[in-house]
Amino acid sequence: MSEAAIDQRESPPLAETPDIYGAYPRLSDDQIAALEAGGARRTVNTGETLVREGERSDYFFVMLSGKVAVTTTDDAGNRHVIRVHGPGRFLGELGDLEGQAAFYTAEVVEAGEVLVVPTERVRALVVHDPVLSDLILRAYLLRRSLLIREESGFRIIGSCYSPDTARLREFAARNRLPHRWFDLERDKHAERLLQRFGVPPQDTPVVIWGGEVLRNPTNTELARRVGLLLPDTVPDESDVVVVGAGPAGLAAAVYGSSDGLITAAMERIATGGQAGTSSRIENYLGFPGGISGGDLAERAALQAAKFGARILVSAEIVRLQSGDGQHQLTLADGATVVARAVVLATGARYRRLAVPGLESFEGDGVYYAATVQEALLCGTGPVVIVGGGNSAGQAAIFLAERVSRVYVVIRGDDLNKDMSRYLVDQIDRHPRVTVRSCTEVREVHGDDKLSEVVIEDKRTGERHSIQTRALFVFIGADPNTSWLAGAVQLDDHGFVPTGPAALYSDTDGTRRTTQRRQPLTLETSQPGVFAAGDVRSGSVKRVASAVGEGSMAIRQIHEYFGT
Ligand SMILES: Cc1cc2nc3c(=O)[nH]c(=O)nc-3n(C[C@H](O)[C@H](O)[C@H](O)COP(=O)(O)OP(=O)(O)OC[C@H]3O[C@@H](n4cnc5c(N)ncnc54)[C@H](O)[C@@H]3O)c2cc1C
Repeated sequence: MSEAAIDQRESPPLAETPDIYGAYPRLSDDQIAALEAGGARRTVNTGETLVREGERSDYFFVMLSGKVAVTTTDDAGNRHVIRVHGPGRFLGELGDLEGQAAFYTAEVVEAGEVLVVPTERVRALVVHDPVLSDLILRAYLLRRSLLIREESGFRIIGSCYSPDTARLREFAARNRLPHRWFDLERDKHAERLLQRFGVPPQDTPVVIWGGEVLRNPTNTELARRVGLLLPDTVPDESDVVVVGAGPAGLAAAVYGSSDGLITAAMERIATGGQAGTSSRIENYLGFPGGISGGDLAERAALQAAKFGARILVSAEIVRLQSGDGQHQLTLADGATVVARAVVLATGARYRRLAVPGLESFEGDGVYYAATVQEALLCGTGPVVIVGGGNSAGQAAIFLAERVSRVYVVIRGDDLNKDMSRYLVDQIDRHPRVTVRSCTEVREVHGDDKLSEVVIEDKRTGERHSIQTRALFVFIGADPNTSWLAGAVQLDDHGFVPTGPAALYSDTDGTRRTTQRRQPLTLETSQPGVFAAGDVRSGSVKRVASAVGEGSMAIRQIHEYFGT
């Protein structure tokens, strides 16, 4: 596809974009001077392209005079000006610092002079200059959010019924990659776009970017195209390999790398883990207004990268083998990495109810925790709690003090089976709690917010509709540890015991009776292998505790290394 010229009908093409969000700050003369120490000035002419969409840019550009237009290409191949920058402003967005391909084109629209600095140099500078670091990182994070909101970037074309389309969409969204999805079933553009690129519908899903078509790419292929870090970039031997990049893994990566350890984090899908799927975390220290899980993960990943950690996505670990003070981790594609110490931070997956459409209300009507924060969100109307264990019981008692009615829905016929007696007694006595036994949730409804839950009595088949803004699900969590069987000790539920709860064992799983020393508090049954966050047996399932454990694991790794 040939590149079209900027559509000059857009008005006003050369007016500088106002800095309304703080995304387009101007550098001070001192900051420009600091950057100039590692860069070079050069004159630029109108029409010159400085950064091209879909290609990686290894340079950071500061406008000294003249103007640059930032453009994106629409689905008909026309380029549109989305911002204009003048003297003192700098180009780029988050992906540039991370070595990703550009999600925009930057073209000179008024001749002048630019300062060109290798991105490598800027990366080094931001580590040592907190003011400049803050200015650039803040602007870059905001610019990435804007590109996502504007649906710039690559196109995914595929049917809403295709599991591969869902996989690609999840990968793009969870990795915060600007993109737009065209549903082959509903969107007329989808077919026209396919025709333009000569792709038959049976070849979908496809990813289209910069005139290039990727036919049903794997996550790794898409990651490679975008320029995300892949396992083949990890050094042969690291001090620490962290498995999983949710809050616990990201914390371990930040503290490991900032302590000078060669640190790599291997993540199956995207940084952020479960927290990354939360639209607003209100109880994380230091964010009184709350922060979205995606933003928190992006900041943490950037922070880890700033200290030199390598965070790799599409890097699922399927095997751990330990021996001679070393640990070998095998990736799903068969590649291996070796580390002197390992942090297991693979988290857990809350069991979801198999109810169509439930996931669209997660975090906004469907909750997996019942704290003051969720209680505030669900108002004072009736709420539905699913589950018959202690967490469901505690939630019922807690919420019953705040709402008009709590329905506790259990599959079995007796609450006493899995719930502590004291909770059952409180529930029995509470005038605002109703227990629905032998009952399951069948449907959830709502426009953008949950408004109705339909339950069914399994004995009679009778259905009841409950008008509610909140459904709490407490049916347990499964740790992501199936790949660890035989490598470290697991408890009866598959979580990883640490400290006194873990006994050193041989790799075949037999427990040793004579021990060299007690495992450190976050150390597993395998010396040198630590566990942090939700995957750990007995952990508190919270972002803050996962982060705390990630940092503690690094402290204990120093102790294990004797450093
Ligand atoms: C919808 C929702 C909302 C929440 N809201 C809050 C809240 O407001 N406040 C709060 O404190 N807590 C909240 N929580 C809980 C909180 O998110 C978790 O306690 C926290 O994310 C646990 O962090 P973790 O790093 O231990 O595990 P996870 O977040 O589960 O991360 C584990 C990571 O490991 C990866 N992984 C798994 N297996 C492998 C493998 N074999 N190889 C490579 N990678 C692997 C996963 O893809 C995942 O990214 C919420 C949870 C959910 C689901």
